[in-house]
Amino acid sequence: MQGNKKKENKKNRKSLPTGFIYHSDYLKHNAEQIHPENKERLSKLVEHLEKNGFLSKLKKVEPYIPSIKWLEKVHTPEYVRKIEEVCRNGGAMLDPDTPVGPESYQIALLAVGGVMAAVDAVMNKEVKNAFCALRPPGHHAEKDKAMGFCIFNNVAVASRYVQNKYRMKKVLIIDWDVHHGNGTQNIFWTDPSVFYVSVHQFPFYPGSGSENEVGEGEGNGFTFNLPMFAGSGDVEYVEAFENIIYPSAVKFDPDFVFISAGFDAHENDPLAQINLTEEGYKRMTEVVTRLADRCCDNRLVSVLEGGYNSHSLAFSVEEHLLALMNQKSK
Ligand SMILES: [Zn+2]
Repeated sequence: MQGNKKKENKKNRKSLPTGFIYHSDYLKHNAEQIHPENKERLSKLVEHLEKNGFLSKLKKVEPYIPSIKWLEKVHTPEYVRKIEEVCRNGGAMLDPDTPVGPESYQIALLAVGGVMAAVDAVMNKEVKNAFCALRPPGHHAEKDKAMGFCIFNNVAVASRYVQNKYRMKKVLIIDWDVHHGNGTQNIFWTDPSVFYVSVHQFPFYPGSGSENEVGEGEGNGFTFNLPMFAGSGDVEYVEAFENIIYPSAVKFDPDFVFISAGFDAHENDPLAQINLTEEGYKRMTEVVTRLADRCCDNRLVSVLEGGYNSHSLAFSVEEHLLALMNQKSK
């Protein structure tokens, strides 16, 4: 009878809505700056989803300001304090690409807390899976270093959170942002409990992400880089997802899946030279949802990273959401 019960639970989760995490405070980070990572990315996305009646199909999940102890599972306490201080003093350039203003510390905390709220909603069966529309992004942020528009590593902190709070032992992070997630790789480099898979343009910013980078010590084999040449598109990506990423991830057998979902590998993106379309993003999402269904009862949280053509970003996220909701395109 236990088998039947398990089946029943699974069916219940599948019928739950997809969660959507957003807060208007996310627009206040560097609101006045002329920068590729700007507030229009999110405001236009939300406007688009509102206009076509999408938001009403999703369950809104409220982000919160998390306890600093969760950030310190990933970042050094000195680093967290430094960001707080820099912002309190009016802001600065943290690296040549990463400006922060007076409100950025609180907003970066709210971004981390957005992913944690998504984890809570998935674990408490309020939603089947979730998408976090937030900024600043996170995957370039290392333990003690801001980089490439990223301040705190949202997905890395949430990975530690789901492991510690909900006893999910094995976490899979699939990072399809067009840039290699050096920060996430760096944080979990020696850790076999987090399987980090990145598919990205290479050679390209930030320079890391060759296939020879596989982790070290106990983490050897738990970092998996799939570099893509400039000019690659839907065919190469979908093939990699179906034939390489899916089987490796099934072998790892995760308890929880995150997507570091950058949409800057889109053909219209101004920052890179990969030619994905909305259809490509949908098909990649379908592979990941199938994987989460097979391995971990659909426990999946997708988190926005890059994506700098706001029009393509909005349309790509729409297809991504349709696949998360398991609905057909229009
Ligand atoms: Zn990127």
